[in-house]
Amino acid sequence: MSNSMSQGRSAGIVGGGIGGLAAAIALRNDGWQVTVYERAQEFTEVGAGISLFPNAITALDALGVGAALRAAGVGEAPGEIRNAAGRVLFTRWAKPLTGGFTVLHRADLISLLVQALPGDCLRPGSTVEDVDLDGTLRIGGETVRHDLIVGADGVHSAIRQRLWPGDTAVRRTGITTWRGVLDTPVSGFAGGIVGVHAEFGVLPMSGGRTYFFAAAQPGFDSFDHFAEWASPVPEVLAAADPERILRDEFLEVPVPRTLAVGKVALVGDSAHAMRPELGQGAAMALEDAVTLAAHAPDLRAYSKARRRRVQAVSWMSRQATRNNMPNSRWRAAVRDVGARAVPEGLALAPTSRLFRWRAPAPTPTDAATMPKAAHPTVEPLATSRRP
Ligand SMILES: Cc1cc2nc3c(=O)[nH]c(=O)nc-3n(C[C@H](O)[C@H](O)[C@H](O)COP(=O)(O)OP(=O)(O)OC[C@H]3O[C@@H](n4cnc5c(N)ncnc54)[C@H](O)[C@@H]3O)c2cc1C
Repeated sequence: MSNSMSQGRSAGIVGGGIGGLAAAIALRNDGWQVTVYERAQEFTEVGAGISLFPNAITALDALGVGAALRAAGVGEAPGEIRNAAGRVLFTRWAKPLTGGFTVLHRADLISLLVQALPGDCLRPGSTVEDVDLDGTLRIGGETVRHDLIVGADGVHSAIRQRLWPGDTAVRRTGITTWRGVLDTPVSGFAGGIVGVHAEFGVLPMSGGRTYFFAAAQPGFDSFDHFAEWASPVPEVLAAADPERILRDEFLEVPVPRTLAVGKVALVGDSAHAMRPELGQGAAMALEDAVTLAAHAPDLRAYSKARRRRVQAVSWMSRQATRNNMPNSRWRAAVRDVGARAVPEGLALAPTSRLFRWRAPAPTPTDAATMPKAAHPTVEPLATSRRP
């Protein structure tokens, strides 16, 4: 057996997606020696955009990569929610998004996280095959032991399946989702379009590109369903290269009773994959990473700090499906009337609360004993908003 480090505390991170890389940065900032084991041959992400709401940006600031995020380019904040007929239902995003908002290419987000880590922390082409509660990992013929293991290996997590047996099987929803990036701008709209059985979103990215996404209930999983939708949906679909459209299913992982056992903690989708209805999956992974580093090695405190929040956000994301793609015209009509009638304070309260996340202070033990990397002060993000 090789020990991955000779002195100090070591963390082995399984998975080099957004959650794993963020955990590596956060733990390293708090004095841990980190190794990221990623099964892919390189650190990158699928060809789609990702929206980052204020809580995700707060977490990226806490990691010290906020300036790099701003340099990578800021997309346009969602301005409106419309229905499929083009009727404007909601225009009041400005207030909850004062904490910042951006849309960027997933590959750019991964790249800026990778750049915040020294190359010798990163082990691409390393599939973790087994894990023990005592911090042992098996990778090919090699066995390594760490003081902390972070399971950041995504929705089908081998770490979760091995150490949380029977607790957290992946839940299929049957809901189809499509994502793509246009190399051209779509003028005149930034936001979401909610219909019956389906939804669509269009968000301008930096560099004149456009991120679009769609989702549809089982039985409505064809672009034909969007043919009669108001502008800009037909224009976006006509401009999209079918070869570059990603098609997936919404998958969920029920939040386990604890996010940590022995020396092993779960972060991100491995712990709580959720429907992307509120654009919160990566945001939760980033929050997990910052919170884990603030509490580690006290993993019970980490689990306690995170569990209720991720449960609540996962629940909200599930509820949002009913609103965004209801299963009858009648429900859609009630939604459309309600969206216009409900007072602003009431409409915005849940999301405003959700976005108002603050990074936890490090535990007193850590603060007293561990050398900390300085977190740069970052100016508030300048978002461009529609009225
Ligand atoms: C359609 C859609 C739209 C979304 N939009 C948004 C959005 O706008 N905003 C947002 O915040 N979130 C969004 N999300 C959610 C977000 O994409 C995920 O929550 C986030 O990517 C999870 O990151 P992760 O690091 O936990 O997992 P992953 O990104 O899945 O990373 C897991 C990594 O682990 C590696 N791995 C797996 N097994 C092993 C192993 N045994 N050994 C070594 N490595 C391994 C994988 O190769 C992978 O690199 C969306 C999700 C979907 C499906």
